[in-house]
Amino acid sequence: MRQEKDPFISIVLPVYNESAGIGETIKELANYVRARPERYELIFVNDGSTDDSADQIRAAVAENPTIRLVDFSRNFGHQLAITAGIRYASGDAVVVMDADLQDPPRVIPEMLARWREGYDVVYGKRRKRSGETWFKKLTAETFYRVLKAVTSIDIPVDTGDFRLMDRRVVNVLKQMNEQDPYVRGMVSWVGYKQVAVEYDRQERTAGKTHYPLRKMLHLAMNGITSFSTVPLTIANWLSGFFLLVAVVTTFVSLLLGRLSLLTWVISATFFVGAGVTFTIGLLGNYIGRMFAESRHRPLYIVADTYGFKTQAAQQTHYRYHALQN
Ligand code: UDP
Ligand code: MG
Repeated sequence: MRQEKDPFISIVLPVYNESAGIGETIKELANYVRARPERYELIFVNDGSTDDSADQIRAAVAENPTIRLVDFSRNFGHQLAITAGIRYASGDAVVVMDADLQDPPRVIPEMLARWREGYDVVYGKRRKRSGETWFKKLTAETFYRVLKAVTSIDIPVDTGDFRLMDRRVVNVLKQMNEQDPYVRGMVSWVGYKQVAVEYDRQERTAGKTHYPLRKMLHLAMNGITSFSTVPLTIANWLSGFFLLVAVVTTFVSLLLGRLSLLTWVISATFFVGAGVTFTIGLLGNYIGRMFAESRHRPLYIVADTYGFKTQAAQQTHYRYHALQN
């Protein structure tokens, strides 16, 4: 059980050209905050909108002291908007949600309840997705399952960025300075106690999705390449296959006594192919290692320590990076 009395909760909302719906979102969240016993801040991150979304939020900032705006110089993308919002948040827990009310605020109390039970990450798992095309649902479902198959960390399926994170998870995320972050994967990677809360994803209140196929593919590639080096090892598998073909063709032609020029050329081609793909695979392994190093992820994260007498050791669960140095 968490002991925080009078907890402070940050809600982070990335905003990109939500002019038609942002007023409704602000109103709904302001009502939500008013009705709740916890203290809140609402952090809108304007991701370079070209409409009047930022103006609408600025007007709300002037009226409502719980509302804040982080205004990007241009469009940096959904994942970086979330990253920035998390960094500006000062809550004991941080909730990330869409600015189009697709993630309903009424789920937040449920998340808070799990947080109070001691969970560090409470993620929203989509039971139903209203108002989205079968194409989007199918591609999203397929992608989540492919990602799960190629990564060693447990990234939950059918889960977007709607989630609550405890301060200690947020503190780790703030240390992860990745260029092209796949935030939901990073949160899974951090570990601690994570749990799902199921909810029905709503239709957008207004406007349309800013995730066209191009951006979805980019996000999907990002998810795979930042959490899996399996694609780099494809060459290794190919080389094994080529070698097998080369050996089999050589033996078969030897056994059948048909050592024509053609069979030799075929075997030789596969031997050379096996050699080439083997060396490419070797490069892939080294590149994978360099890639892992270049992300500068913490080596490990200590959740708690017990029985240590020194103060330094007791602090390691927030200062995990001190252990690396
Ligand atoms: N968004 C953003 N930058 C972008 C695209 C989207 O900040 O480049 C915001 C958008 O305003 C919304 C959230 O990210 O609050 C999710 O985007 P969207 O609703 O378009 O995606 P979908 O829910 O359709 O997957
Ligand atoms: Mg949305």
